[in-house]
Amino acid sequence: MDEFELIRRYFAHLGATRADVKLGVGDDAALLRVPEGTDLVAAVDTLVEGRHFPAGADARSVGHRALAVNLSDLAAMGAEPAWATLALTLPSADIAWLEGFARGFGELASAHGVALVGGDTTAGPLTISVQILGHAPRGSALTRAGAKAGDLLAVTGTLGDAGAGLALATGALEMHDFASARELLLRFEYPTPRLEFGIAARGTASAAMDISDGLVGDLPKLAAACGLAAHVDVERLPMSRALHAAADVDQARAWALGGGDDYELLVAVPPEKFGTLAARAMQLNLTLTPIGALRPGNTVTWTLHGAEFTPPVQGFDHFRRASTQITV
Ligand code: ADP
Ligand code: MG
Repeated sequence: MDEFELIRRYFAHLGATRADVKLGVGDDAALLRVPEGTDLVAAVDTLVEGRHFPAGADARSVGHRALAVNLSDLAAMGAEPAWATLALTLPSADIAWLEGFARGFGELASAHGVALVGGDTTAGPLTISVQILGHAPRGSALTRAGAKAGDLLAVTGTLGDAGAGLALATGALEMHDFASARELLLRFEYPTPRLEFGIAARGTASAAMDISDGLVGDLPKLAAACGLAAHVDVERLPMSRALHAAADVDQARAWALGGGDDYELLVAVPPEKFGTLAARAMQLNLTLTPIGALRPGNTVTWTLHGAEFTPPVQGFDHFRRASTQITV
């Protein structure tokens, strides 16, 4: 199978068919029609084997995650995804791997109406780069900046599940409760980008970002972009029953604070609008939990039941040693 046969067989028809794709896979570049009155929203994220997923991870999960992490970035902007390109570096043309990868990628792309419109295929260490393109009504996209002192901080869903799921995947954690273990593993392998919520938060949330590196790593970025201090009541962090089944409360909290890979959304919202936003989340079968607030200043502080609290973990940073890093 040569490169062109590989592209034709596995990637030429992935995802949704869209009328706004004037030219997709097969030419030198794709031609896309951006709707009138919108801003084009673009993001790219790379997954490296042994870095972002354990070596030998299930190919379908890798395909899902490669797209999901990008969709999560668009969710954080309140944007609607439309098109994706895929730069794939493969050690070999492993048919079973390609089929699994294309299935995981394709299922999620179809579910969100995303068309794969181009890419690049090369040989080398397993690395997957996905570029996502989408749009939002002009001027309406959410950003990390713009919140005011006094705005509440809130997160969707539960935190820490993916951190525990990764520990299960790498064998660092074992559980007897198989149903909970499966739930946690799925949260790492098949994260759900909160796209509907991001769109619902447009015009109501004052700032937003997705939590990819853990709250401890990500919250300071939002606070800095707003030019504000942030405070979190750690006892309010939403944690699932499955996470509590996995470990004691200190370990569960450590995952919730710094495990990363949850792809929940962190939003700032004026207190008087919180009820409206929480109700919209509920309509989407999603919880929205207030965890703290933004204040004047430039620090990020944490308390546990009123006492000063130092998070036991740092956020993920590729260029710094961190306890949460996957080891190969
Ligand atoms: P070029 O050399 O002009 O950049 P390529 O020969 O690399 O084009 O690719 C041929 C066509 O296949 C292009 O339209 C490209 O976008 C598409 N393509 C290559 N790899 C992938 C992939 N992994 N997924 C989707 N489309 C791809
Ligand atoms: Mg070309």
